[in-house]
Formats: sequence, structure tokens, C-alpha cells
Amino acid sequence: MEQLIQKAKDLLSKKEVDAIIGYCATGKDEAKPALIYQAEDAGELIFNDRCYNNLAVYLTRKDVKKLKKIGIVAKGCDIRAIVNLIIENQIDREKVYIIGMTCNGVVKPGSKYASLKSGKCDVCKVRNPHLADLVIGDKVTEQVPMDKKIKHADLEEFEKKTREEKWQFWVDQLSRCIRCNACRQACPMCYCNRCIVDYNTPQWIDTRSNPKGGMAWNLVRAYHLSGRCIDCSECERVCPVNIPLMLLNRTLQEEVQRSFDFEAGYDLEACPPLTVFKKDDKENFIR
Ligand code: SF4
Ligand code: SF4
Ligand code: SF4
Repeated sequence: MEQLIQKAKDLLSKKEVDAIIGYCATGKDEAKPALIYQAEDAGELIFNDRCYNNLAVYLTRKDVKKLKKIGIVAKGCDIRAIVNLIIENQIDREKVYIIGMTCNGVVKPGSKYASLKSGKCDVCKVRNPHLADLVIGDKVTEQVPMDKKIKHADLEEFEKKTREEKWQFWVDQLSRCIRCNACRQACPMCYCNRCIVDYNTPQWIDTRSNPKGGMAWNLVRAYHLSGRCIDCSECERVCPVNIPLMLLNRTLQEEVQRSFDFEAGYDLEACPPLTVFKKDDKENFIR
């Protein structure tokens, strides 16, 4: 990754960016997020198939937003989040230098997260970065063309269930939620200063770790992400009790795709459908 390190050194020493968000090694054959401020620390940067985290989550941190310009090492899925954050006016395109990394998938057989149900990378359409100031790495073959509509195998299987079976599945799954909020913390689109779950007057959501609270929290979060979720699977990866959150997210993605022909994070000009009003919006949900 000599090119990545050299570019980072260059950007930092010429003060073209104040810091770079990237990955560094943990010493346990894993990668962890790193915020590099000094050119002499740029040598710590790595990029490999252990770089799971969606680093776009750090772009909305208060200390990062205060910087004049930030560099970020970004895979295609991270860039989908960056596109959304720009559209939602959370970051300025001019204030972010995107070092796009070509990527062959980060959840490889044999890796710690290989058994993730979500299949973080198997439906990815952006192995080659679609928005970047610089792309590092050889061009890789896309597994799915960007304009092709895709449906994850887990979702196809789930849809064969009856309505009652689906409901029971989610009652069972969401009642296991321990309300740790790790899903929210890992999600680049959960950037609210104050999350709905943190309100106590009135308290909109039962904060207890019980079936009612688990159901309320996860359904509300899924609705807040509908049309905005960029399919990075980070919420599911970090869930300590392995709730198949991507099945829930993808159920809503499928609905948004079917109703509005929209997928989040590909196009800087396209606003998430639930954030805009159009005169010709369908009204078939009004009875
Ligand atoms: S809901 Fe999950 S998959 Fe969607 S953007 Fe957030 S972390 Fe990524
Ligand atoms: S769950 Fe909803 S309110 Fe909470 S941070 Fe995410 S988008 Fe914001
Ligand atoms: S990460 Fe899992 S256990 Fe924690 S709040 Fe989210 S769904 Fe619940």
C-alpha cells in the first residue's frame, strides 16, 4: 500500500488536509479505524480484506466537522455513505478528500466475520469507487452492474414465509436485543445529535431490554433508515447478539426500490425518496 501511504504523507505535509481517516493494524491480524494527523504517522495506514468498518461514520463527528478539510480512505460501500451524507447536507464535498480504494470484498472465507449472514460484500456493485479524488488499486471486475436490481438470497428465502411466520420471526429475533445501541453507533446514517431513543420527555421508545423495547427500537431505526440505508452491513456485523438486521434493512430497501425505483448512495443528484415531495408521488397508500 505504498501509494496510499505516499499520498497520505503528501496530503498531510502540504496541509491539503488536516487529518486522514483510515485503517491501521491491530496486531491481531485485524484492522481498526485510525485518525492520522501527522505526515510521519502515515506509514501506519493499511488497506486489506480486514478493513470492514464503514469509516464514513466518523465524518459527522463534531471534532472532525470542525476541521478545514479531512481525507478519508474509502471503499465503494463507504463512498455510498459519503454520497448520502453530502445529499443530506451533513458534509461539504469540497471539505472531504476521498481516497477511493478498489476492493475485492472485505469478508473473505476464513476471516473472523466470514459467517456473517448479511454477506457484506456479495451484492456489492461498487468494487471500483464511484466518487473519489484519487483511486488507488487496480480496477477490479464488478460482480453486478450498477443498473441491475439485486435481491439478496436471504430476503428471497424470507419472503416465502407467511405473514404470521414473518411476524413471529421478528418477535423472536428482536426480543433478543440487549439495547446496546452498537448498531446505531456503527451506522454512518445515524448521525442525529439526539437520537429518538434518547428522549425521555416524552419517552417515545421503551428503553428497556425487553421484547417490547427491542421491537420498538429496531422498527423505528429501520424506518429512519428506509431509503437511506446504503447496505454496508455494519449494524449487523457489530450486533453482539447476531440479530439479522440486514434482513430487516433489505426488506425496506426492496420496498423503496419497488415503489420509487431508488437505491441510496449511488447518485449525488438523487435525494432519498422519503426526504422529498413530488407532485406526482404515488398516493396508493392513502385509503
Ligand atoms: S442501517 Fe446498517 S447497513 Fe444500513 S447504512 Fe446503517 S450500518 Fe449500514
Ligand atoms: S435511529 Fe433514527 S433518530 Fe436515532 S440516530 Fe438513527 S436516524 Fe437518528
Ligand atoms: S446492536 Fe443488536 S443488540 Fe445492540 S441495540 Fe442494535 S440490535 Fe440491539
